[in-house]
Amino acid sequence: MNNDKNVTSTVGHFIDGKTVADTARTQPVFNPATGQSTTSVALASKATVEDAIASAEKAYPAWRNTPPLKRARVMSRLKTLLEDNADRIAQLITAEHGKVLADAHGELQRGIENVEYASYAPQLLKGEHSRNVGPGIDSWSEFQALGVTAGITPFNFPAMVPLWMWPMAVACGNTFVLKPSERDPSSTLLIAQLALEAGLPPGVLNVVNGDKVTVDTLLQDPRVKAVSFVGSTPIAEYIYAEGCKHGKRVQALGGAKNHAIVMPDADIDNAVKALMGAAYGSCGERCMAIPLVVAIGDETADKVIESLKVEIARMKVGPGTDNGNDMGPLITRQHFEKVKGYVDAGVAEGATLVVDGRGMKVPGHEDGYFLGASLFDNVKPGMKIYQEEIFGPVLGVVRAGNLQEAMKLIDDHEYGNGTCIFTRDGEAARYFTDHIQVGMVGVNVPLPVPVAYHSFGGWKRSLFGDLHAYGPDAVRFYTKRKTITQRWPSAGVREGTVFSFPSSK
Ligand code: NAD
Repeated sequence: MNNDKNVTSTVGHFIDGKTVADTARTQPVFNPATGQSTTSVALASKATVEDAIASAEKAYPAWRNTPPLKRARVMSRLKTLLEDNADRIAQLITAEHGKVLADAHGELQRGIENVEYASYAPQLLKGEHSRNVGPGIDSWSEFQALGVTAGITPFNFPAMVPLWMWPMAVACGNTFVLKPSERDPSSTLLIAQLALEAGLPPGVLNVVNGDKVTVDTLLQDPRVKAVSFVGSTPIAEYIYAEGCKHGKRVQALGGAKNHAIVMPDADIDNAVKALMGAAYGSCGERCMAIPLVVAIGDETADKVIESLKVEIARMKVGPGTDNGNDMGPLITRQHFEKVKGYVDAGVAEGATLVVDGRGMKVPGHEDGYFLGASLFDNVKPGMKIYQEEIFGPVLGVVRAGNLQEAMKLIDDHEYGNGTCIFTRDGEAARYFTDHIQVGMVGVNVPLPVPVAYHSFGGWKRSLFGDLHAYGPDAVRFYTKRKTITQRWPSAGVREGTVFSFPSSK
């Protein structure tokens, strides 16, 4: 990415439409399939982050005044460029994240749909108008840009999650500073360069790579008006508190522990096939993954376990670059050890380990972070593997007596991101969707990730803030409402001095 001869192997920053080095502090980036460091990423100093904010602030007045249709056209061109460069982007994702190429294409496509939605901005920003709210008085509300906005994103969707944020922010007239994950930064930077190629003026989108120094500078700088965050719950909570303390609008999406209920009347074959992708797809490193199945009745649980065993035996684990593989490696050596530790903990706590993925070896990739699929039966609330987000290929089956018991388990859990029920019983499904304390709910759909024209967000400790990500909520998050009430004396209506509160009585 970097044209500077001294830093060819370091991923830098993207400020005011130019690549910026600032490589005083760097961190290695690994290919998880080989365990080898392939490049390094620069960790921005406070001064570099301030340069990025200054660049966004400088670009703001002209961009705010650019007609929404012209801003939208940039999004339309970007959509085409993203489609044309999809293979390059997916390869970068796979090389640094590890997920299989088809999955990388899938996340990119979902990101492109957010760019497409952002290209509807002129329609979405039209506002509300009321004529004759009083004698000769008209009133309207419009949605004005905030100014400089910022986003901080996680490693698990390096293309999609940034595209949840900045396209809508800039389509609404804001400028943006993005801080991607330091573990897989390259696809994000390529997309930023494509945005420039699509016609986004320099400074409207800036990217700073980095760590806590970068994030804290964004949170504390008064020029930044709003912050979107997606990542783990402890950091989300910190971002929300720190951002609010500094007077910013904040939405901070956190971690998850999503349960799927399998009812006795469910189509078990379909449910199990769906659960395989939801539990082990992307190596379980999705905030909408299903790491827990609540089976209603022992007969259902036994059938689900038997079918899962058969499906797991068929799974192919290996480098994401090989299209024949279903699951790639975990993101880092440290995360690999952590997930393996959860499997150890599950055994120690008395859950039944039905399939053990800990011994997985991928020939030729002995240093890669590959862990096979693990499956536990008899998982119970209170166990670490029940309570905590593992973010790995570990699926636990919980046995429950009835729907009410299963729903209570879900409602009592600290997270409320996604959930799903497998059933043929419409009444049970309706009761479930109506009452469950979770933000995104599936009925026979294991990953109910809302499409770009709805909004994405969990409940409880999966989201801090009021508005969800992307879709209609993003228009509200990245704008502030202004309501104007107007009368022209020349309309012929004259009122004398009135001391009472104006009303329509
Ligand atoms: P993370 O919280 O470690 O990092 C997210 C971002 O925060 C990164 O950019 C990182 O550099 C930054 N960060 C890390 N530590 C920080 C600190 N101490 N101070 C300030 N900034 C810091 O998350 P991750 O490991 O990259 O991603 C996985 C997590 O993200 C999982 O918990 C997953 O559930 C969650 N996630 C949630 C959603 C959602 O929509 N709710 C979507 C994707 C991922």
